[in-house]
Amino acid sequence: MRSLLFSVSVLTLAATAALAEQPLPQPAPPSPAIQAARDVPYPGTLKLSVDATDLARRIFDIRQTIPVAKPGKFTFYYPQWVPGGHSPRNDIDKMAGLVVTAGGKRLAWTRDPVEVFAFHVDVPVGVTELNLSYQFLSPVEARVGRQVMTPDMLNLQWLQMGFYPAGYFTRQIPIEASVKLPEGFQFATALETARTEGQTTTFKVVPFETLVDSPMFAGRYFKSVDLDPEGPARVRLNMVADRPEQLEFKPEHIHAHKDLVQQAYKLYGSRHYDHYDFLVALSDQLGGIGLEHHRSSENNVGPKYFQDWDKGFVGRELLPHEFTHSWNGKFRRGADLWTPTLNTPMRDSLMWVYEGQTQYWGNVLSSRSNLLTKQQSLDSLAMTAATFDNRRGRDWRSVADTTNDPIIANRKPLSWLSYQRSEDYYSEGLLVWLDADTLIREKTGGK
Ligand SMILES: [Zn+2]
Repeated sequence: MRSLLFSVSVLTLAATAALAEQPLPQPAPPSPAIQAARDVPYPGTLKLSVDATDLARRIFDIRQTIPVAKPGKFTFYYPQWVPGGHSPRNDIDKMAGLVVTAGGKRLAWTRDPVEVFAFHVDVPVGVTELNLSYQFLSPVEARVGRQVMTPDMLNLQWLQMGFYPAGYFTRQIPIEASVKLPEGFQFATALETARTEGQTTTFKVVPFETLVDSPMFAGRYFKSVDLDPEGPARVRLNMVADRPEQLEFKPEHIHAHKDLVQQAYKLYGSRHYDHYDFLVALSDQLGGIGLEHHRSSENNVGPKYFQDWDKGFVGRELLPHEFTHSWNGKFRRGADLWTPTLNTPMRDSLMWVYEGQTQYWGNVLSSRSNLLTKQQSLDSLAMTAATFDNRRGRDWRSVADTTNDPIIANRKPLSWLSYQRSEDYYSEGLLVWLDADTLIREKTGGK
């Protein structure tokens, strides 16, 4: 026993002495910085063409052309931050098959080891454009992620489809996008059509910033209704469904959506779009979504939105919420949220305004347009208030701190929701603005 202890001590001493002579690990030098974005025009127009006809395998096949001004090191990005998602969650894991060529020759690409959404190539002398080919793989089952292609419809998000060059504000990068859709599909998007050839539609050139803010819904079973035929700007309710009978609506259903537009104009006294497209899926096949854009919104309201109209009201405030974002969120947004590129970190400190106030006005507009009855709207407010009466997380976490949740939690399931809190700036934010509204009424004697 004793001799064993002795020998261990000797070994330890020897090891310590050896360590003292070895240098301790030091950090590797930082990777070279990627060029910062400048607010100057990109020299050339990008082209992006998406073949969305592979419904059987749910694969988008994509070609992109990026003009380049000079030889040497060139960096392009896959978008990382999701506008309206308030987090760095874009689906780079579903981008595959990337091949870069120039003048018919394949160029090697490398991914940046720190900014893994950035790709580097060496542009040879004499080359004026890069040709990229790759695929976007829509999940084939829900556990892989949000399904954006089904046998009967698709949700094309340009944010998932296209790369853009580093070094420029995205509003300064012009791009021409086109899409080939399955036979018999109709589509809606805020983009404006330049030309149509067979199943392929080419859109007018827009800045990359506008392209990623203008997604598309397309489907075999499709209806579009003009919600403001006499108004100053065209507003359309565009619907795709799993089955044709799900698109059978009554006049009062459409009337409520028409009222929503008029009530929004009365409430806000302005509009900041030249046209607006509600993109609405009535589906339990397409992944769920409620995502705002300046001139459109992506909404999944479930397959029985019209069929079960009189049986419930949950989810009927979705369109008023997303429509409100055209004013609060897109035309105006928190200063620290706005970024010049999609790979610059967004900061969510004003989400209690961006989402909380939108949640409040969404509730008010739902009731004013008869998407909800006044009583349903009041019941919904009462349920929210009761929830926060018993929110234990309020003991340790401010509602302002929950504005970090899209980045730190990204809507993952939680074991102790009440104690942990989750994006409470939506509903507790709603109560803040209800309080502001009632205070204004009180202090002005209801004026
Ligand atoms: Zn929202």
